Amino acid sequence: MSEDFYDVLGVSRDADEDDIKTAYRKKAAEYHPDVSDADDAEETFKKIQKAKEVLTDEEKRRQYDQLGHERFTEADKRGATGGGGPGGAGGPFGGGGGAGGFEDIFNQFFGGRGGGGGRDTRPRQGRDLRTGLTVDLAEAFEGTTKELTLTRPTTCETCDGEGHPSDADVRTCPQCNGQGQVRQVQQTPLGRVQQTSTCPRCEGTGETYSEDCADCGGDGVVREEATLSVEVPAGIRSGQSLRMEREGAPGENGGPNGDLLIEVDVDVGERYERDGDDLRVTEAVSFPQAVFGDTIEVETVDGSVEMDVPAGTQSGETFRLKGKGMPRLRRRGRGDLYVKVAVVVPESLNEEQREALEAFAEAGGEEIDVGGGFFEKLKSSF
Ligand code: ZN
Repeated sequence: MSEDFYDVLGVSRDADEDDIKTAYRKKAAEYHPDVSDADDAEETFKKIQKAKEVLTDEEKRRQYDQLGHERFTEADKRGATGGGGPGGAGGPFGGGGGAGGFEDIFNQFFGGRGGGGGRDTRPRQGRDLRTGLTVDLAEAFEGTTKELTLTRPTTCETCDGEGHPSDADVRTCPQCNGQGQVRQVQQTPLGRVQQTSTCPRCEGTGETYSEDCADCGGDGVVREEATLSVEVPAGIRSGQSLRMEREGAPGENGGPNGDLLIEVDVDVGERYERDGDDLRVTEAVSFPQAVFGDTIEVETVDGSVEMDVPAGTQSGETFRLKGKGMPRLRRRGRGDLYVKVAVVVPESLNEEQREALEAFAEAGGEEIDVGGGFFEKLKSSF
């Protein structure tokens, strides 16, 4: 192949910029080292890069046309043709045209198209992670510090999050050809929809490396077990989340870690029902206690208290013990404890009790067939 830039791209000397770019894209796709089988693919690809770089720059193209190929390339090697431009000392091909140089040109060409996406090197905060933690009612009442062990993504120490050994070579990502984006065409009821998404292989950088980090497989992130001390505040309720800042997934490009969100489940246990900051409990009283009234002992979350059951209390009646519920989260005060009274009907009676109750019923004018109860009558009817 001729060295001449016009020949390299296969365009005429009066081709306009669009013709050159179109020709370049065709040639670049054909000779890209990751897709071409040709032995000299990489070298050819570099020539194509250089040709396009010069011929799409008005000033450089003018110099090229003026000097001719030989003299232009000589001048370029001495760094003369880049003069005038910002940072021009290196000439258009920078410090010797290493791999990084031509990758960058390639990225500039494709990466700048189509707005967002493509190469993104902005620092980004890591993802928030979510996990769960169970505490019991006493812990929720007092507040507690819990050890939480979780497996979470952590920056790989072997490669310092780079995903590759520091001496690995840079290559153009073969999946997106360095564009950092892949296009997918989907058939939908509304017709064909073209979607552009960040390339999964290079994650938008357009670059891959000759070797992946052996420990993280190129992710730059490994899953590691971590144990954290979680401060659980008094009054926490089921479903509420605690946020531990910067304990989430590692950030990208030097960005901060995400947060860890810990959803708390409060195991209330058998005795209580919880309703916000209020607690509910059922206490059994005997029939005479309900009839005559009594003072009963009620176990609360923080010790027992005495509660008056007034004479004539009905089963199911509820009394409120003010301020005996759960503490209010990050506020003063406490909820209430609601005590529902259940009058217990004895399942068996001794002789004395039976007689007393029969007398009670009689005294009240009730006629109960005590000797042959409901079951006796049911049996005899068969
Ligand atoms: Zn690694």
